[in-house]
Amino acid sequence: MHAACALTLLLAAALSALPTSAHVRSTDRRLIDWIQEGRRRSPTLGTLVDVIEASDVFVYVEPARRIGGGYLQFVDATPHGRYVRVTVDVELDAPHLLAVIAHELRHAVEIAEAPAIVDAMSLESYYAGFGARRRRCGRDRTACYETAAAMQTTALVFREICGRSVPPDGLRTDP
Ligand SMILES: [Zn+2]
Repeated sequence: MHAACALTLLLAAALSALPTSAHVRSTDRRLIDWIQEGRRRSPTLGTLVDVIEASDVFVYVEPARRIGGGYLQFVDATPHGRYVRVTVDVELDAPHLLAVIAHELRHAVEIAEAPAIVDAMSLESYYAGFGARRRRCGRDRTACYETAAAMQTTALVFREICGRSVPPDGLRTDP
């Protein structure tokens, strides 16, 4: 527990009235509120949302429990755009949750910058191609990849929100 950096949604009602991003979406009202709050508190998170907004990528951020972090999956490519799903552990405290969301949005930006990614196979080829670190992750221990940029994003957003570095136990995030 990192109580020194507690974040609350006291302004949740007011924040809900803010327009949500057209390209970063959620079916979970509370996650939308957190992302809006994160955009206000973290310039890095705000920039990531803006970049995705201007791209052909649509991100659905959806809640899960007991996964300890987050991960991104490619869903579909259509004439209207490319769709990815980000799953995050909503049991994380708010600063960690926002750092994990930003980490996965950084991966979404990587996809936005790589038009060759159109399905799960091309996603894997892309990450394997530029030498991203490969490891096993997720409940089914499938192959997944990590990038230095996304790891740096985690640390940066946590620092912007909390004014200090990511705690030693770190954050688990999987692309
Ligand atoms: Zn990652």
